[in-house]
Amino acid sequence: MLIVMHHHATQDQMDQVLAAVKAMGLTAEPIPGSLRTAIGVLGNQGYVDDSTIRTLPGVRETIHVSKPYKMASRDFHPEPTVVDISGVKFGDGQKPVIIAGPCSIETEEQMLAAAAEVKAGGGQMLRGGAFKPRTGPHSFQGLGIEGLKYLQQAGKAHDLPVVTEVMRIEQLDAVCRYADMLQIGARNMQNFDLLKEVGKIQHPVLLKRGMSATIEEFLAAAEYILAEGNRNVVLCERGIRTFEKATRNTLDLSVVPLIREMSHLPIIVDPSHATGKRMLVPVMTKSALVAGAHGVMMEVHPNPAKALCDGAQSLSGNDFAELMKEINHLLEFLGY
Ligand code: PEP
Ligand code: MN
Repeated sequence: MLIVMHHHATQDQMDQVLAAVKAMGLTAEPIPGSLRTAIGVLGNQGYVDDSTIRTLPGVRETIHVSKPYKMASRDFHPEPTVVDISGVKFGDGQKPVIIAGPCSIETEEQMLAAAAEVKAGGGQMLRGGAFKPRTGPHSFQGLGIEGLKYLQQAGKAHDLPVVTEVMRIEQLDAVCRYADMLQIGARNMQNFDLLKEVGKIQHPVLLKRGMSATIEEFLAAAEYILAEGNRNVVLCERGIRTFEKATRNTLDLSVVPLIREMSHLPIIVDPSHATGKRMLVPVMTKSALVAGAHGVMMEVHPNPAKALCDGAQSLSGNDFAELMKEINHLLEFLGY
């Protein structure tokens, strides 16, 4: 439930409401804002009887929220969240962020070369996986900690904050030590124990949509992180599984304006995993930006033909530089 206070409500009246919520055995979360002051009520299993609250002085209205996500919703939090990663900002009013880099960290040289290409093209963040969620056990599984070191080194060498996937709770300390942002991959979107642990720290999180997750499930997954206290969450649409086989996944671009309306969290798009095809990455990148994405994450490899993972959807450094020119024209047209 959401309790909306009158504009002129006093602190005393707020305190009275907070005490009343507490007395009901529920948690009250004040939500200060420039547009209104509200109090979110959390911890209820079902419908909350609001008869006492509604009549307290200073209360304008109570709104029942029956969604499985509350802290992630615009109802609870009308003001946009801006997630700041060492000065690179995701969210409303910010220039969309371009994250690029290889699917997997392969060698020190490969990572340094990729970072140089990302920087030269004008990318703002570097990606690369050290712990890889591969479909089969015989595929390259990633370099682990050694890879994290190469990623950090390459990011520092080119002044690019880095993002990398964490698959298990046991990897969390190491990934936080080497990376500026944690990625939770599509396959782990509903790994609730991992979400809770990530929620207990303040490291920014890039949460990818599960391959068969509804928007409600996606936001409920973000809710797990927010509910534990970590508010630095960026969502990522990466395509969903449908009957279509011509592309790796089906890019659901309508999720971008929908999430922007339903949630205050930033949302970016990954056109590489969404399509699986290099040829489609530029046009889907531009489409995502037109749809209102707060950023794009794409795979860029110094030698896509030799990539140990996802070469067919990876751009070369030259492809990336060309695309960035088009992106910059488009962003200018869009008013950034
Ligand atoms: C990735 O970004 O490296 C990745 C594995 O993507 P996803 O989890 O979306 O499949
Ligand atoms: Mn990949």
